[in-house]
Amino acid sequence: MNYKSTRSTTHATPSQAILNGLAPDGGLYVPKTLMALPLESCISKTYQEIAEMIFAYYFDDIPHDALMDAITSAYNTHKFSHPKITNVRSVDETTHLLELFYGETAAFKDQALSIYPYLIKASMDLHHTRHLTILTATSGDTGKAAMEALKDVNGLSIAVLYPQHGTSTMQALQMQTQDGNNVFPIGIDGDFDDAQQAVKSFFSAHSDLSISSANSINIARLLPQVIYYYDALSRLNPSTPVDIYVPTGNFGNALAAYIAKEMGCPIRKIVICTNDNNVLYDFFTTGVYDIQKRHLVKTHSPSMDILVSSNLERLLYFMFKDERKVSNWMKSLNEHQMFTLDQNELDEIKTVFDAQHMSNSQTESTIVSLFESKGILVDPHTATAFPQTPSKHPKIIVSTASPYKFPNVYRACFHLDSMSDFDILDYIEAHSQEFYPEHLKSLRDKPIKHQTFIPKDEVEAVLLDFIAKEEHA
Ligand SMILES: *Cc1c(COP(=O)(O)O)cnc(C)c1O
Repeated sequence: MNYKSTRSTTHATPSQAILNGLAPDGGLYVPKTLMALPLESCISKTYQEIAEMIFAYYFDDIPHDALMDAITSAYNTHKFSHPKITNVRSVDETTHLLELFYGETAAFKDQALSIYPYLIKASMDLHHTRHLTILTATSGDTGKAAMEALKDVNGLSIAVLYPQHGTSTMQALQMQTQDGNNVFPIGIDGDFDDAQQAVKSFFSAHSDLSISSANSINIARLLPQVIYYYDALSRLNPSTPVDIYVPTGNFGNALAAYIAKEMGCPIRKIVICTNDNNVLYDFFTTGVYDIQKRHLVKTHSPSMDILVSSNLERLLYFMFKDERKVSNWMKSLNEHQMFTLDQNELDEIKTVFDAQHMSNSQTESTIVSLFESKGILVDPHTATAFPQTPSKHPKIIVSTASPYKFPNVYRACFHLDSMSDFDILDYIEAHSQEFYPEHLKSLRDKPIKHQTFIPKDEVEAVLLDFIAKEEHA
């Protein structure tokens, strides 16, 4: 299996693409061909068995034993508090929630990041890489999941940039209390786009350093996300293709659904769900991606507070298979903060994608009405993915985080004004059926270990320092 860049004919083996993260021309790696995997091959298979089929195809230069070892070490009941790794839960006859928050950090990022260290170590072994520093921008969930996965792993260190005032309090606490001798969470005075931009600039300025990324620009993040679509659909085994509603930020999760569809998974439409930072909603309805006059706003769903959605570039490549076009669109986005599809291109995109967006107050009322009518409490990201227009098609709503990560939103929803965050979580535990993950409960008494907060323009120097120190540790 070979990977190529979205912007040129540059190519790489799976292990090289995993180690590099971003292609040298600034593009993203995509597999040259997609696996054909009919759903029938997945019926009655476990999550781990489906993972094996998918990984054997996409990561075929990693020895099969190493892949098997990665799968058994990552997807087990020590790391996931659900025996099937994810949960499919019915809301009504045609609507199912795909709950992806049973991993160690209670967000769907664990589905890929739990296996990421094993894939990266196997790739380092193949290329005799002694030490690698992982640099990651986070809107709240990736950073924690990546540090938890990589803590104290030999030969690896990790620095995480997060918006100091942009995450939920629980997300910040999760990062600031992180254990491990090789981890470094850094709060910056900016938003997620600033963090992602700082990481991307660092990569282009320091291509000589031994660094990689745990963001969904890395194929080792993206491809493991295909597993849960097959796994969920094999459990439902629907008679007609289903619609997938995905709460979307950096477009990794939605792209994984698209890849599954292209591989033969019975998916009808993919609905891109956004909050008030609805640049993707506009793009999928008008074909114009325009951030010229936009400012990121803070919403109830902080992990979707993103304007520059990296993985969209991969979708454009998959849909139009034209490196020149993709390069020009990305150049235009970079230089003019916008790019535009023509009508034919937009029509083609619309054959697969729909979009919706929800304001904060709509998110609140969705949470409350679902709780009152069905007794189900969803997190604010998942809430944005509840269908706004009724449809009789069978559908899966991707549930991306545990409600216990976002107490402040329930303060507003259920009028719990005088309660502290942790009191609200106790209240939720007492009044709902949702399970309270132990590692979130224990945050209340966990000592803060990391309090580095820096202005954006100091990121480069601070990262260089960290990398130098870790390489000699
Ligand atoms: C990361 C995240 C998202 C957005 O996912 P993308 O793959 O970046 O589109 C949505 N919800 C939660 C809870 C997340 O952590």
